[in-house]
Amino acid sequence: MNLKNLLEQKFFPYVIKPGRYAGGEPGTIQKKPEGKLSYLHVFPDKYEIGQSYVGLQTLYHIINSYDRFLCERLFAVDIDAEEVLRKENIPLFSLETSREVKSFDAVGFTLSFELVYTNVLNILDLSGIPIKSKDRSEEDPIILAGGPAAYNPEPLAEFIDIFFIGDGEEGIIEILDILHTNSEKLKKEKLKLVVQQVESVYIPAFYDNDLQPLFDFVPEYVKSRIEPDLKREYYPEKPIVPLVEVVHEHLSVEIMRGCPQGCRFCQAGPVYRPVRMREINEIVELIETQMKFSGAEEVTLLSLSSSDYAEIDNLASMLARKFEPQKISVNLPSLRPGSISAKLLNAVKKVRKSGLTISAEAGTERLRQFIRKDITDEAIFDTASLAFEKGWTTIKLYFMIGLPTETDKDLDGINRIVKKINDIGMQFPGRKTINVTLSPFVPKPHTPFQWDELIPADEVLRRVTYVKNSCPVRSIQFKYPSVESALLQAIIGRGGREIGKVIQTVFENGGKFEGWNEYFDFEKWKDAFVYHDVDFEQLIKPIPFSQTLPWSLIRKGVSVEHLQKERQRTSTQLKDYTPKIRENDESDIDRQNMQFGRSKKKIVSQSVVAPTKNRVRFIWGKDSRYKYMGHLDNVKFLERIIRMAKLPVMYSQGFNPSMKLSFGPPLPLGFTSETEIIDITFETNFMPYMAEKLKEVLPDGLTIYDAKIVLSKSKSISSQLNRASYRIPVTYIKNNEKLSDRINTILSSDSLVIERQKKSDILKLDIRPAIYEMSLTDDTLYMTLGLGEGGYAKPSEVLQALLADDFDLYLTNFMHREELFKVDESGNKIKLLDIE
Ligand code: SF4
Repeated sequence: MNLKNLLEQKFFPYVIKPGRYAGGEPGTIQKKPEGKLSYLHVFPDKYEIGQSYVGLQTLYHIINSYDRFLCERLFAVDIDAEEVLRKENIPLFSLETSREVKSFDAVGFTLSFELVYTNVLNILDLSGIPIKSKDRSEEDPIILAGGPAAYNPEPLAEFIDIFFIGDGEEGIIEILDILHTNSEKLKKEKLKLVVQQVESVYIPAFYDNDLQPLFDFVPEYVKSRIEPDLKREYYPEKPIVPLVEVVHEHLSVEIMRGCPQGCRFCQAGPVYRPVRMREINEIVELIETQMKFSGAEEVTLLSLSSSDYAEIDNLASMLARKFEPQKISVNLPSLRPGSISAKLLNAVKKVRKSGLTISAEAGTERLRQFIRKDITDEAIFDTASLAFEKGWTTIKLYFMIGLPTETDKDLDGINRIVKKINDIGMQFPGRKTINVTLSPFVPKPHTPFQWDELIPADEVLRRVTYVKNSCPVRSIQFKYPSVESALLQAIIGRGGREIGKVIQTVFENGGKFEGWNEYFDFEKWKDAFVYHDVDFEQLIKPIPFSQTLPWSLIRKGVSVEHLQKERQRTSTQLKDYTPKIRENDESDIDRQNMQFGRSKKKIVSQSVVAPTKNRVRFIWGKDSRYKYMGHLDNVKFLERIIRMAKLPVMYSQGFNPSMKLSFGPPLPLGFTSETEIIDITFETNFMPYMAEKLKEVLPDGLTIYDAKIVLSKSKSISSQLNRASYRIPVTYIKNNEKLSDRINTILSSDSLVIERQKKSDILKLDIRPAIYEMSLTDDTLYMTLGLGEGGYAKPSEVLQALLADDFDLYLTNFMHREELFKVDESGNKIKLLDIE
């Protein structure tokens, strides 16, 4: 049996969210492998995290734009899916063509942060690839890695063949070209050519444990790659549109790389330097193009510090104006207090307000100056005040705990800021919510704090509890990520090759998804440190300047000497520090224009109640490409399609406007259909061109069958339907006569009692009254079942009763919903489009 069929029969029906592994999303590319170098890009975390990562979309697009390469994707499979793979002995496979990982020429990992490392090993293992480079054969793919965590590659040195350090857009093509043109050569020769011809490559096997080159063709230092221009061709016109829910559903567009600020704790600042801003017109053009294809409801202007983009006010205002009619909002993930203008907030709030985060980082100006986060208290308060004035009701504050030189005075400073912002909020109408995140400080390689000691977990916890318990505002919601997980991240992040053994042991003991609180198991790590005799306590102590750092051969931007000077300067700076005294602690709020009590409700200039003829019912269906999308995924995807068609759909009012849509009864997962319903309420009279526009943007595999204007404003369609008919092939039942007998037995019985899970309860129910028809023709089973309040039966419940031991097999087949309809009191059948 080929892998595709094996997956259909043994994998997809048995995993919780099959849509995460099925691929087929609009924007994906499938190429024939003949004559091409095949590359698999792996994001070693769940689909919903990885598919939101812009870097993955960029690399996928760039590599696939060359005829001589093909690029497919893979994400870490969840615990339930891994169990099925291991039980059935199925190798890991790509999303695009369900191709075995092992059969690719090269496999590249994005290392987003250190806690995905056990997933990297697990993915290699599930693919049948030896986890250590030295154990791999000529037949195994070459394993690459890059991304932010690769700036200290040593913890994964034994497992990765090639690290690429820095901007990967051009470097990956150079590497793949060498692998392609030298495909007949031995692996070692290919690696030699890569290190000789491609800048910014680190091949651990060519260095000894003291990081000394073993061969004269290997560079002494690896310089990080910087692409001077963020070229237009790096970004896809048709981004991949996820079919199942992901963490960021919005369209993210990079506007700038690098950050002009120089915060001393931050690794992203120095490693992504220099600042490269994209041209405003090019950004707008790209967003318009991508929006046509993605139908997202929000566009995020991505960069490390978006408010430092030179034309941010103009860009945000221009986009807000363009997209407001389609209710598409503009979002900026990272705004620096003090750099946010009223114009910018006006643009961002135009359609819907996403959360506003103020990253204060430290509680006092003294500590902020020490870490070179040059933000005054005044700037923080002014930003909060402006946000409240513009209608924000929720503000998130972000602080780090355990920064070098932090004292309880700095912790008191956090509460002073929280209290002040709470006071400012009370001066504006409406209820305000302030959420405070306290994140443990993690010293990062390539920063002036890279030598600093880590505060022990119990002390960080004490400080967090101190802030929480001494907060004068009771309503504040405090959040703090796992202290131990931050500690571990810091230890691995600053670790050398010896940490690789620890990572391997944790993986062998079942450690995976260590970045997820529910799976993180610190005891496993502690045991592994003890097992390998790695002194955990030693790893959290300060590192002497004289010590060679594990990442010392990676050169990025400023020299080690400069970082040392920066670190030393902080000590002198501390002595010289004089706190600024605010003359007037009152923030400059416009009191005259302030409102108290309830604010006036904004009257939106559109008809509040749609005339009924503006409601249109569409009958749509989907083929097997979309069968692994659940009901909510269908809803979100159809919303995207409506936005792509730019239909004048009506929205609800309020802070978070949503489309006025209603759907028919949910289609079970794994089913195709030709009878699904969506009612769309339009702002204007319905015109036939609207249906045409909708059809134009529908991707292959989705079909609109019919449409009609709904005149009645009465009951929802779902509450009126009471029958659903299904068609299910039963070719796998060897003895059809036996099946016919079972059908007859059920139809001639008065009751059929089944068990149905309802929340935490299991209910015993008689579903026989909801089975209206059942027949077998050739190899197809037809059944009509009850729907809705009058009594219903799920197709799976009937099949379980009918097929008994063969029940599992039905999951592997093509199941189809044929018709939804109503039977009235007189027993007359009313077709879907005839229901008012
Ligand atoms: S502003 Fe943000 S991204 Fe820039 S250096 Fe500071 S912390 Fe890093």
